[in-house]
Amino acid sequence: MKIKNNVCGMFLIFGLFALVGFAKNDIINVIAIGRKCGRQAGDYEVSLLNSSSITPGTSIVLLYHRIGPIKLSSHVTGQYVSPRVLCWGLDELCRAGWRPVSLDQCIDASTKCRVVNTSNFAITFDDGYLSVYDHACPALNERGLTATIYLVVDALGGVNEWDKRAGDVEERMMSADQARELAENGFEIGSHTLTHPRLTQLDDETLTRELDDSKRKLEDMIGREVTSFSYPYGDFDNRVLKAAVGAGYKNAVCTGFGAVVHGTGLFEIPRINMRWNGFGMRLRRKIQRAIKATCCNK
Ligand SMILES: [Zn+2]
Repeated sequence: MKIKNNVCGMFLIFGLFALVGFAKNDIINVIAIGRKCGRQAGDYEVSLLNSSSITPGTSIVLLYHRIGPIKLSSHVTGQYVSPRVLCWGLDELCRAGWRPVSLDQCIDASTKCRVVNTSNFAITFDDGYLSVYDHACPALNERGLTATIYLVVDALGGVNEWDKRAGDVEERMMSADQARELAENGFEIGSHTLTHPRLTQLDDETLTRELDDSKRKLEDMIGREVTSFSYPYGDFDNRVLKAAVGAGYKNAVCTGFGAVVHGTGLFEIPRINMRWNGFGMRLRRKIQRAIKATCCNK
């Protein structure tokens, strides 16, 4: 009976995605995730993001990691977003009236209490995977969109050693030349430290080096000031936050779930973690939850 149900489920999934024009890699992603999570076909509902219930002036920051078909052996299968799903999510937001802005504009619009008549979103990528350079940046360029890309400086042109040490699969990272090219084409480069450590576990000297040296090396590399920082693993406390301020950054993003509103701390900018299913009904519900979580906490 279980096998019969699984077979029926697979046909339902294939049928649904045939209807909405999914590419092969997307189908592979869905099946792979379904195997891991035991999701049902009904979970893959596709609908447009309806912004009618969103308060004007709401800002959200999207967080992406790896772009492409998932690797089943990875510890973070849900973080692989296919290029098509990435585009669907962004296109849906734009069609629904969300205004794509830079991270600085996004933060300024909501935290500085200016009168804002639109709902804004900014796009961020953590770690600097080569797949972001190969697949996400061209898609954003085509749409006239920009993003902030947080780089692990010592990993440029190498691989994700910090993930590998934790038993995850190897991924290639973009090179310094590629990062420089992105900076020249309107993408913001931010720091994600030198080596991607858990910052709260470092002594003061090492913490300062991860924050200061990564900033300085990136600035030497791209020839402009680096003002934004992303805490690896979203791991920070008061000491780390003060060190980020002291290093000269103007803002820092974390992995706290929520929207950016008046009163949001500039060094505690929350983000919405975008996963393999970041489009349609899933995206709408996630944004609604983020706004609700923020409003309830204020
Ligand atoms: Zn990271």
